[in-house]
Amino acid sequence: MAVPYILKKSRKRKKTISLQINGKAEIVVSAPFFTGLDEINRFVEEKQNWIQKTIRKQNALLFRRKEKEFVSGEYFYYLGGSYPLEVFREQNLPEGLVFWSNRFYLNSPRDTAGRKIYFIDWYKTRAVEYIGKQVADLAGRLNLLPKSIKITSARTRWGSCSQESNLAFSFRLIMAPPAVIDYVIIHELMHIKKKNHSSGFWKLLEAAMPEYKLHRHWLKENEHKFIL
Ligand SMILES: [Zn+2]
Repeated sequence: MAVPYILKKSRKRKKTISLQINGKAEIVVSAPFFTGLDEINRFVEEKQNWIQKTIRKQNALLFRRKEKEFVSGEYFYYLGGSYPLEVFREQNLPEGLVFWSNRFYLNSPRDTAGRKIYFIDWYKTRAVEYIGKQVADLAGRLNLLPKSIKITSARTRWGSCSQESNLAFSFRLIMAPPAVIDYVIIHELMHIKKKNHSSGFWKLLEAAMPEYKLHRHWLKENEHKFIL
């Protein structure tokens, strides 16, 4: 199937066909002036995988650059689901963020920065509860004993395990699906046994969670969504 592209033919001494994705995610093909359309179409067809991958990467970057505004209609992640926010002001009700019936309700007179704090606090509280419970369950099942568990505000690290087996997890992890959260927890728990990423480590991890590569890949592809 042919994909739409913008064709630029060059009268200059250009000898090869080349392809670019511009800032608007459009495909721009440059070709020598006398190149036949069949040949150009074939060239674009052959580059399909590269085109898809590049556009996906660009979209991820665009998403990352878009800062949250914490206004009604915006969507926020929680345990892998994406739910709309409704902001309102009701003085007779307590201020703050509530998650109810697949919706976020924020009663707040504050500006964007203040509203963001409500979200961070809410996520942190949920993370302490949920991740704390999962770590206890999974550690028990795997017969591993972490020294302590801490929820952090790390932006790029999902989890860590110190030399002394103190575990830390970013509160942002609570936005990911449960299976992905379990992967990060099991990953850090396995570091209690092996404090590196040797092939032995990955074998231990695979024995505990055979499908771990799937979750690891998912996290790499989607982590840009979990920035507030
Ligand atoms: Zn690791």
